[in-house]
Amino acid sequence: MARPLILVTNDDGVLAPGIAALAEALEAVGEVVVCAPETERSGSGHAISFHTHLRAQAIRPGWWYLTGTPVDCVYFAMMHLCERPPDLVCSGINAGYNLGSDVFYSGTVGAAAEGFLRGARALAVSAERGETGPRWAAAIAAQLARRMLAAPAPMLLNCNVPPPPGFGHDVSPTATELARARRVHVTRLGQRRYKDGVQPRTDPMGRPYFWIGGPPAPGSTDRDHDTGAVAAGWVSITPLQLDLTAPDLSGAQALVADLQQHAP
Ligand code: MN
Repeated sequence: MARPLILVTNDDGVLAPGIAALAEALEAVGEVVVCAPETERSGSGHAISFHTHLRAQAIRPGWWYLTGTPVDCVYFAMMHLCERPPDLVCSGINAGYNLGSDVFYSGTVGAAAEGFLRGARALAVSAERGETGPRWAAAIAAQLARRMLAAPAPMLLNCNVPPPPGFGHDVSPTATELARARRVHVTRLGQRRYKDGVQPRTDPMGRPYFWIGGPPAPGSTDRDHDTGAVAAGWVSITPLQLDLTAPDLSGAQALVADLQQHAP
């Protein structure tokens, strides 16, 4: 059987240290093709560029960048670069966790979701911000990737990796260390909170401009939620589905029944 084909992308840009660590770790699992945004596209969500052209550039064998979003990269690579459909799309390692409602904004998760929509197994991996060379998260990703490839059906997993207890992200963990620190929990999306706000500033020409957003604030601490698991130092794995339909249709059905009986 041919080695599995793994498409690697991210939203931090092709030069980010996280994608280098991820691609290197996944070389042991399968054949790796990298296609990532030319520049940082964090917060791109599931955006796709169909109103503008894209340019692609090979930077070394198996490595490409694209002047588009993370989803553009997955679309372009699956449709054009890859000689066969990738078995796994792996996105990361993002600099910063993607927890709870982050999954709607995250280009890291968006890219994985695009791969999953197109039939591949898909894994988004994020680690604590501010660390370079997140080899620890990459090692976990490779272990997960092997098992996802062996699983009977495709899954879309959102994985967040805090530093292992007693180690920084820069370590290359040994097998023993991996086994010792394997504190992994399957979670649901929690409630992600930020110190939200709008900061007005003034540019050198005296014109106003704004920054939106703010730093993270403590989220839900339930260990069964991704926010709580990561806060407690556990690797969080959240299986995602892309059918956003509410499980309970009854509220909307009651509303529509009333609308039909009492028009207008
Ligand atoms: Mn990012």
